Amino acid sequence: MVQRIWNFSSGPAVLPESVLEEAGKNLLSLGNSGIGILEHSHRGKAFLAVYHETEALLREVGGIPSNYRVLFLQGGASSQFFQIPMNFLGPNRTADYLITGAWSEKAIEEAAPFGGTHIACSSGDRNFSYIPHECVWSSNPIYAHYTSNNTIFGTQWACLPPVPDAVDLICDASSDIFSRPVDVSRHAMIYAGAQKNLGPAGVTLVIIREDLVECGSTTLPTMLQYRTHVKNESMYNTPPTFAIYLMGLVLKWIKSSGGLAAIGETNRRKAQKLYTFLDQSLLFHPTAVADSRSLMNVTFVTGDAELDAKFCSAASASGFDGLKGHRSVGGMRASLYNAFPEAGVDALLEFLRNFERENARSQ
Ligand SMILES: *Cc1c(COP(=O)(O)O)cnc(C)c1O
Repeated sequence: MVQRIWNFSSGPAVLPESVLEEAGKNLLSLGNSGIGILEHSHRGKAFLAVYHETEALLREVGGIPSNYRVLFLQGGASSQFFQIPMNFLGPNRTADYLITGAWSEKAIEEAAPFGGTHIACSSGDRNFSYIPHECVWSSNPIYAHYTSNNTIFGTQWACLPPVPDAVDLICDASSDIFSRPVDVSRHAMIYAGAQKNLGPAGVTLVIIREDLVECGSTTLPTMLQYRTHVKNESMYNTPPTFAIYLMGLVLKWIKSSGGLAAIGETNRRKAQKLYTFLDQSLLFHPTAVADSRSLMNVTFVTGDAELDAKFCSAASASGFDGLKGHRSVGGMRASLYNAFPEAGVDALLEFLRNFERENARSQ
């Protein structure tokens, strides 16, 4: 058996070991069906059972109300950036965007061809190191779109944005979906690529309120209309069967870990350990403003690019992978998604302390 190392990757990311073992067992035969999970028809009984169980777990774990539909789509969260405005925006309407990082910027850029866009707030003035407190809304937005966790910049909305009650709120939750309790009913739609908190790459989860589905354009290609996937329970064409299966296993793991409240507590504790260290460190400094810090992606720097690089190579030589920060922030980023074990955070803390001790003199 190969030794597994601490994987701080920002996505695709670490998965629970028990999930990987279970999936491995079912590659040759799903249960005692004699056919592996990758080989079952999406229309067959065996896969349909997997599909319905995954959906039921999503609803249970996420507390998804009955007037919301759950879709398993492809094309990544990035395809939702255009599919949303294609369906709901129009030349005479405006959608409001809360710009808190590179992903929100991409989302608004993709919306622009389909109608009016308005920036309700932006933290671009300080390299997205904070979550804005105030928004200025357009007069009658068709929806408001925000990114709940900013994977690259290490910031996260601690609570919902202050959107007027009547405005449909749409959330890109790709990097913090089901990492803490979520009030689905305050959203018209939540979407996320699965590969950070929920499973492997290849499936995009969409949770959408029923009445919104019917507001969508009827002139788009069939595959781009949400109603197609609602009507056909994500089986208009072949869905990403293995990714749906694995998401089901991850949801079972979340449920057996105590659900979103317990997962949220653990995630808070994991991130807090790192921030507490960083706040008193003489060498390392967090890049995000204190009230805006992400519990999923902890970004930090030494302030010296060469020392950052030295740290990253020393860390990877010691079995800590994926700590190099995104080029737009520099420094380091520790991604601590649901499946990242607390023991890995403790190991990193010890490594940080040792590195600090050995390198503080030269500072
Ligand atoms: C990773 C990420 C995306 C992109 O997801 P894809 O599935 O690769 O398209 C979008 N938004 C956020 C917040 C992300 O973290």
